[in-house]
Amino acid sequence: MNLFRLCVANLVALFWVVIPTAMGANIIPQPSYIQEKQGTFDLAHNNNILYVGKQPEVNQIIDNFMEQMLGDYGLSLQTNKSKKAGILLQDKKSLGEEAYELSVAANKVVIKASTPAGFFYALRTVNQLILADENHTSLPCILVKDAPRFSYRGFLIDAGRYYLPLKDVKKAIDLAANYKLNRFHWHLTDDQGWRLEIKKYPRLTEKGSVRSNSAIGTWDQYYPRHYDGKEHSGYYTQDEIRDIVRYAADRQITIVPEIEMPGHALAALSAYPEYACSFHSSLDLMAGAGISDQVYCPKPQTFRFIKDILTEVASLFPGEYIHIGGDECPKTSWEQCEDCQALIRKENLKDEFELHAYFIQQVEKIAEGLGRKLIGWDEVLEGGLPLKATVMSWRGEAGGIKAAQLGNNVIMTPNTYCYLDYYQENPEFAPLAIGGFISLEQVYDYEPIPEALTAEEAKHIMGIQGNIWGEYVATIEKFEYMAFPRLLAIAEVAWSQPENKNRELFISRLKKEFSFFRKRNVNTCREYFRPRIQGGWDGEKGMYAVTLETICPDVDIRYTLDGSEPTVESDIYKGPVYLTENTCVKAVVTDKDNQILEAPTVKNFLVNKATGCTYTLSTDAWSLDWYPVKPTLFTDGVQGFTPSNYEWAAIASGVEIVIDLKKNTTVSGVRFGTMVAPINSTLPAKSMICYLSKDGKEFRQIGESTFSYPVYKGEKEIYHNYVKTDKKDGRYLKLVINGQTELPEGYPYPNALPSIALDEIEVF
Ligand SMILES: [Zn+2]
Repeated sequence: MNLFRLCVANLVALFWVVIPTAMGANIIPQPSYIQEKQGTFDLAHNNNILYVGKQPEVNQIIDNFMEQMLGDYGLSLQTNKSKKAGILLQDKKSLGEEAYELSVAANKVVIKASTPAGFFYALRTVNQLILADENHTSLPCILVKDAPRFSYRGFLIDAGRYYLPLKDVKKAIDLAANYKLNRFHWHLTDDQGWRLEIKKYPRLTEKGSVRSNSAIGTWDQYYPRHYDGKEHSGYYTQDEIRDIVRYAADRQITIVPEIEMPGHALAALSAYPEYACSFHSSLDLMAGAGISDQVYCPKPQTFRFIKDILTEVASLFPGEYIHIGGDECPKTSWEQCEDCQALIRKENLKDEFELHAYFIQQVEKIAEGLGRKLIGWDEVLEGGLPLKATVMSWRGEAGGIKAAQLGNNVIMTPNTYCYLDYYQENPEFAPLAIGGFISLEQVYDYEPIPEALTAEEAKHIMGIQGNIWGEYVATIEKFEYMAFPRLLAIAEVAWSQPENKNRELFISRLKKEFSFFRKRNVNTCREYFRPRIQGGWDGEKGMYAVTLETICPDVDIRYTLDGSEPTVESDIYKGPVYLTENTCVKAVVTDKDNQILEAPTVKNFLVNKATGCTYTLSTDAWSLDWYPVKPTLFTDGVQGFTPSNYEWAAIASGVEIVIDLKKNTTVSGVRFGTMVAPINSTLPAKSMICYLSKDGKEFRQIGESTFSYPVYKGEKEIYHNYVKTDKKDGRYLKLVINGQTELPEGYPYPNALPSIALDEIEVF
């Protein structure tokens, strides 16, 4: 039955992007004020750069800049004090902490700032202007007055899940600094690994940094789970940490180390199980994504252990903040632990949630004693006890709103906009991601100050952060793919004033960055240069319409409908393409020189008598992921695929689906996709009975089939079932689909309700 290879879904509704022709100075993030002038400054012949102020750090910044110019553009600058400066850097005390002014005239460049950070950012802007010049040898004459909107502009690397070598961490820091990000949130510990040398507790890294296996595939792809059989290990010595801290500081980036507690602490507890609740006998690191039930037990010796660790952390990281996690802490161990229950009674706490808040309060006291402030994920306020901590709002914006209203400082990093471990392009073709979908445009459109806040409360929003979580990020190449170009959208949201933001101009300015990424050997996502292919029922035309879009400016889309490879001779897309039968659409983007920019995007559409029809279900369908179920999912012309659950919905066994075929129609057969996925408690459909009716009231049976399947081979798999019916006429088609009522022996959640997963229903 696998006649057609499977296709993907409408990922997100996108609008055709019109790029205004007058783009202005090409700088990311967009500065506060720009005045463009006539002429250019020639760097090749006017290459002496001098600082005449009183801050010795600025000379180091100039040295690094010269090195970068030579490496990126082969541009040789010099600091010859006996010669006249072409590029002059001067102190201007009245400017704000990160502000700068850049004035480019045909014969001179003058940069003013009050701090090394200001000079550093001015030179990042100069770098952007050189990048935008085709020959990388001149600057446009311009006046820029610039300062950031937010003081906290962050990105996260998750070393807990996968250790990234030192040189890779430096590369990421360098790239982030180029776009004026100034905080590196380093997630150093988790259930899957401990990556930071702590002298007093050597087993943390001896044992806690080594796991024997890593899970492969999505969380529900295999049952039993598959592992790669390879040991994964690695940690940063204290000398390496000091080196990285210096490296980041040279680029105006402060590191925020994260030491997770009380949950996400299995790596520490595997090395020192005495700090877990006492009934746990053996603890080992987690090999796959997930959260361990085993968490720190809030007893006095645990807090002594944490104090020792944080003391060393504070000695290594000079920044004012230590992040202590505080998220996703299962309470099951505490519920069963005598020590924990005794503490709840002694401290007169309401429940385990208040115990969690009590835990964080104790750690806040420790941090204060070390002269540090706390950052925690939004769960830290859940227990309702007062804290001074800065809150990172990740479960949407609600936690951040609540914190700001309580008077706590907030960093916005909602998983609806800032989770750069989610898919950014069609999951059918994209490298494996944790799930979800956040496009470049969605990131860019984020406004970090929620409307719910008053002006006074809004002052607590310190900034935003892009999180590149690491469950599926084992290498720097994958990190770069997830982070870029979306991290540049984060940078602009964090730096630029909202009135200066313009999505179309940003996307247009972004184009030059891909040449910068190529120079730096950065493995970015290339969706920018590919068409997006979407299909949907056009009710007005009464036909199935396919639209092709790209965000890349100044290009054409060329496509084929006959399965052949698109070439530079193929039809240029001018507007919706209407389909009347199953069709494979292939499309490419070509530039003004008629060069194809990326391999074709290929998408199959199923068009049949059910396509675009509405239907009713006797019971609710639910999502197998955190995508909402589309109301037209079963008749939208798009088939499901694996391992992502994007185009699937689960439904209870014994469902009745009534499809309104819109007019009297001859029916001769029905086909549908179903799936086995034990971790979702999803089993393929067992049987289907088809009924047809002219009026939607009186139905006559026209076909019935019972299905059989090959033995489960350990992996999520799709089957396509076909039921040949009597050839009859009618408008309303009722399908009664039955599945298993009990889960087979050995399934992971024996008490779960078995469900059927469905994608597209085809009617012939
Ligand atoms: Zn306990």
